[in-house]
Amino acid sequence: MIVVFLGPPGSGKGTQADILAEGHGFFHFDTGSHLRAEIACGSELGQRIASFTDHGNLVPIEIISELINGFLKGTNAKRIMFDGFPRNLEQAQVLGDGLKGLGDDLDFALYLEINEDSLVQRIVNRRFCPECGEIYNLVFQAPKQAGVCDTDQAKLTQRIDDTEEVFTHRLKVYLEQTVPVLDYYRKTRKLITIDGDADITGIAANIAKVLGVQGHG
Ligand code: AMP
Repeated sequence: MIVVFLGPPGSGKGTQADILAEGHGFFHFDTGSHLRAEIACGSELGQRIASFTDHGNLVPIEIISELINGFLKGTNAKRIMFDGFPRNLEQAQVLGDGLKGLGDDLDFALYLEINEDSLVQRIVNRRFCPECGEIYNLVFQAPKQAGVCDTDQAKLTQRIDDTEEVFTHRLKVYLEQTVPVLDYYRKTRKLITIDGDADITGIAANIAKVLGVQGHG
C-alpha cells in the first residue's frame, strides 16, 4: 500500500507517520529528514540544499526526483508512507511515473486538515532530540525535564527553519504550491481528509480505520 501524507507545516504529519510506521509496518519516507541528513554531511549537495531549506523554499525538482526514484528502485517495502512529498504538481507527476514504472500506483493521499491559527504556535515551540529524533512541543508535548530528551537525556534543539519568519514563508509556499496537489488528488479520487485538530491517538485511530490497516501487514 502506497500512501502520501499531505498537510501544512506543523500539522503533525511526521508524528502520525511515525505511529503508522510503528503500529502498522509502514516504511516512513520523510523527504525533509533525508534532506537534513545530506546537509549534516556537509557535502556540496548539502550546502546547495540548505540554501533552499534555511529560507523555507522548496528544493529543486531534480534533487527530489533523484531522492525519490533512488528510494523506489531500492525498496521492497509493501507499505510505504511518503511524508512531506509531493509538495507540488511536478513532484506528484514524478511519484506517479515512478510508481507506474514499477507497475504500482498510489493508494491514498491523506490530508491532515488543521486550523491554521494554531500552526505557528506548534512550529515555534517545536523541539527535537538530535540523538534519537524524538519530537517535542514545549506547550503540547513537553519533555519531562525542561530542554532534555526523555529517552536519552540529550539537549533538545530547534530546527533552523522553525522560526516565525521562516514558518510564514513555508506556509505561503504550501498554499501556493502544495494546495494544488490536494485538488489533483481530490479529482483523481485518492484524497482522504482527516481532522488534524483531534488528539494524537484519535487521529491515529482514524487514519488506521480509513486505510483499513490492522497489525503489521
Ligand atoms: P519538512 O521537514 O517536511 O518540514 O521540510 C523542511 C524543508 O525541506 C522544506 O521547507 C523544504 O525546504 C525542504 N523539503 C522537504 N520536502 C521537500 C520536497 N518534497 N520538495 C522540496 N523541498 C522539500
